[in-house]
Amino acid sequence: MSNQYILALDQGTTSSRAIVFDQQARPVAQAQRTIRQSYPQPGWVEHDGVEIWESQLAAVQEALHSGQINPEQIGSIGITNQRETVLVWDRTSGEPIHPAIVWQDRRTASLCEALKDRGLAKVVTDKTGLLIDAYFSATKIAWILDHIEGAREKANRGELLAGTMDTWLIWKLTSGQVHATDVTNASRTMLFNLDTRDWDEELLSELQIPRCILPTICMSGHFYGMTDPKWLNGVAVPIHSVLGDQQAALFGHTCLEAGSAKNTYGTGCFILMNTGSERVTSTHGLLTTVAWGMGDEMYYALEGSVFVAGAAIQWLEEGLGWIDEPAQSERMASQVPTSDGVVVVPAFTGLGAPYWDMYARGAIFGLTRGTTSNHIVRATLESLAYQSRDVINAMEKDAGMPLQELRVDGGAVSNDLLMQFQADILGAVVTRTETGETTALGAALLAGLVSEVWSKEQLKQFNPAERMFQPLMDEEKKEELYRVWQDAVRRTMGWEQHHFES
Ligand code: ADP
Repeated sequence: MSNQYILALDQGTTSSRAIVFDQQARPVAQAQRTIRQSYPQPGWVEHDGVEIWESQLAAVQEALHSGQINPEQIGSIGITNQRETVLVWDRTSGEPIHPAIVWQDRRTASLCEALKDRGLAKVVTDKTGLLIDAYFSATKIAWILDHIEGAREKANRGELLAGTMDTWLIWKLTSGQVHATDVTNASRTMLFNLDTRDWDEELLSELQIPRCILPTICMSGHFYGMTDPKWLNGVAVPIHSVLGDQQAALFGHTCLEAGSAKNTYGTGCFILMNTGSERVTSTHGLLTTVAWGMGDEMYYALEGSVFVAGAAIQWLEEGLGWIDEPAQSERMASQVPTSDGVVVVPAFTGLGAPYWDMYARGAIFGLTRGTTSNHIVRATLESLAYQSRDVINAMEKDAGMPLQELRVDGGAVSNDLLMQFQADILGAVVTRTETGETTALGAALLAGLVSEVWSKEQLKQFNPAERMFQPLMDEEKKEELYRVWQDAVRRTMGWEQHHFES
């Protein structure tokens, strides 16, 4: 049978991956290429745009080769990507005029402060659902136009093109025929007006970004175009889905109904809750973002992240030298029945949602003569769950819906003790799913939906539960522990400002 596979491209911050899925959405072949990170100055992070494309193409070719799959058997391509990272390139030569500026890059922090000083904070939140921050693409594009000689004039003459990594890959795959992005990626630029579903004139003019350099905005599930046959052995393949990575994970978890949510436990935690076709504005410091769109329908999500999650486990390993590998944290924590009153607040770089305090610093509370490293390790693991509850409680308040189930992925979900504690402290079921490739799966599922390989009703079966952790802790105990956590957090707030800043 021809056209039996779906190819997902997952262009991430550290690697470009390609995964081929069959018609039961099972991964059958994959390959990955790491990409170089450049740090030309403190706070700057760049990627080589050409390397991103070449690594992605090489990963595709290697995946097909390793699975002995002929490109003619690929019915559809789905793309998912690191969000916010942007590139500006020459429309004619196709050469980037500057390296890609990565989402982590803080070089435009002062430009963001200037936008706030011009009174734009409310305008930005009302229109885009975001907070003014260097994280988002808009100020990064403006920076490139400001700092590369002649760039602004060229941009105004329509000689340059800009885009996030999805846009760059689509443009390369179609050999310059299609310059497009999807609504989820657009919603992370700080230029996308959620109401008009278009680039916002006022924000474009504030940042002096000419509309002509920006891609056409399409729904996430959409026929974007055919790949140039020269890339895949003379075969042209349709591109049918585009989603930012966190949104792809939400889709891959089949969190398609309002109130469903996912948490990815990596270095940080990325939590998204689907709020349905209603846009919810947060009053608790969360972002409003597009979950996905298809046809005329656009679905929204609330998004919150925890800065230090798996990074706290890395601190146990590299900072304290108490563990040799992340999995050892579970073995140590299992030596003691509870953390015995010890609370670790890993506010190493301040606190994100819902506290938003950049002056908070980490602390360990409740030490006694009986405290051992096992207790502190256990409390560090518990801090991932408490911080996730902080964000999820904020989402529940904003959305006015209780969380029923949290679907989880990422490196730290292999830790059963952490997952059980997460279910306990949330009072909700935590579902670990079978596939470790939720992000790529999300792009593939949406591409398969567009190309009618499966129906929306069938999607649920494709990422079944591997294990469901039921909440076991009694209500009183759970709330008592959570109150202690919140008190500990409150005591860390403002630390740097109170003690070290003049
Ligand atoms: P990222 O994509 O951010 O690099 P991953 O999803 O690969 O992250 O997850 C890696 C993170 O998960 C690391 O910070 C690591 O410390 C943490 N981690 C991995 N295994 C475990 C474990 N068994 N228990 C707790 N944390 C873990």
